[in-house]
Amino acid sequence: MQSRVIVLGAGFGGLELATVLSEALGDDAGVTLIDGSDAFVFGYSKLDVVFGRAAPDDVRLPYAKFLKPGVRFLRETIIAIDPEARRVTTDTAVHEADVLVVALGADYDFDATPGLLEGGNEFYSVRGAERVRHVLPAFTRGRAIVGVCGAPFKCPPAPSEAALLLHDYLSERGVRDACEISLVMPFETPVPPSPDTSAALLAAFAERGIEFVPVRRVSSLDSARSVAVLDDGTELPYDLFLGVPKHRAPNVVLESGMAEDGYIPVDSNTLETWFPNVYAVGDVATVGVPKAGVFAEGAARVVAASLVARLQGGEQPAPYDGRGACYIEFGAGRVGRVDIDFFSGPMPTGTLQGPSGGLVDDKRHFGVSRRARWFNL
Ligand SMILES: Cc1cc2nc3c(=O)[nH]c(=O)nc-3n(C[C@H](O)[C@H](O)[C@H](O)COP(=O)(O)OP(=O)(O)OC[C@H]3O[C@@H](n4cnc5c(N)ncnc54)[C@H](O)[C@@H]3O)c2cc1C
Repeated sequence: MQSRVIVLGAGFGGLELATVLSEALGDDAGVTLIDGSDAFVFGYSKLDVVFGRAAPDDVRLPYAKFLKPGVRFLRETIIAIDPEARRVTTDTAVHEADVLVVALGADYDFDATPGLLEGGNEFYSVRGAERVRHVLPAFTRGRAIVGVCGAPFKCPPAPSEAALLLHDYLSERGVRDACEISLVMPFETPVPPSPDTSAALLAAFAERGIEFVPVRRVSSLDSARSVAVLDDGTELPYDLFLGVPKHRAPNVVLESGMAEDGYIPVDSNTLETWFPNVYAVGDVATVGVPKAGVFAEGAARVVAASLVARLQGGEQPAPYDGRGACYIEFGAGRVGRVDIDFFSGPMPTGTLQGPSGGLVDDKRHFGVSRRARWFNL
């Protein structure tokens, strides 16, 4: 039996879901994958762009290379979702689905932080990362702030990675002694579910003279005075501001009636929404795991296995386990790996390996394996 499965968003979640369905069902998969962009970019590639480790064009993985039996990719912008009718309106067409999977990720709410774009730089979008790449060479003295403007945000270790890589960047240019680096975060520790990882990061900050400002977020920038204002009113002067913008679900999701408290609530075992045959995976959903690609991928595999079981009359898969492994750049050519488990115990746990030079290859393999699996590159 063929079913029309429409997957909205070709990020970590959408790409993995379409791939698993294609592998299992081949030409009969009946999947339509819709995304408004022409290419996928790994989140962590933005740091490579910021610090000049990769050219912007080299990190773009074009959807034209995403060729899978039973999957049709449409480059269209989604402008309305009717979850009850499972009807999707794009800038060019209306699509009706038997099964709808929303994997539209999280967007950025730049306006929520007055002054962010006028007085500082965000490095979480591709465009922002490209801009910072050109701004950095002019920073040779004074204070740099890496500041988080709201939680939850994608990839909780990324601001720590940015601070450590900024240290390397400035050291290589011989200007580190003339610069200060502060990291402002709304958490008590850099990676709360993993005390070991947090301790290793705090030790790395201490070794490098990076100031860690916990339990605070940046609420605005006063660009006239070059001051960052924190949520308790504290003012931190800066010469360079690298910000993680406040996140929110894409407007089309907020307007669809599917969201509650900003994101789409789902059954964390099955990723089902309140609406029959409508699922949500990845950053757009509230599952109880951080916003990270590895968790989006894991959730997508559960939905795919469930749909295959339904179509082929097999057993439903085990519930989503909330596990994922994240690689963390510690600078100085070392990478750590934290294996996080959100659901199996009473509290989330995170076990750290490294940091070490050996794990640099493991991180590279993470990207290479997905480039090959999804894009044949
Ligand atoms: C600096 C940085 C470093 C990171 N490092 C890591 C890491 O090391 N490991 C890790 O696991 N995660 C990392 N992440 C997080 C990771 O990138 C995201 O969590 C992940 O991409 C989420 O996957 P997703 O499928 O939910 O959404 P996304 O990958 O964001 O995909 C959503 C897709 O929906 C599309 N879309 C949105 N709205 C519309 C619309 N209206 N019409 C059409 N298309 C639309 C977008 O174009 C996009 O392709 C990092 C993120 C950043 C910013």
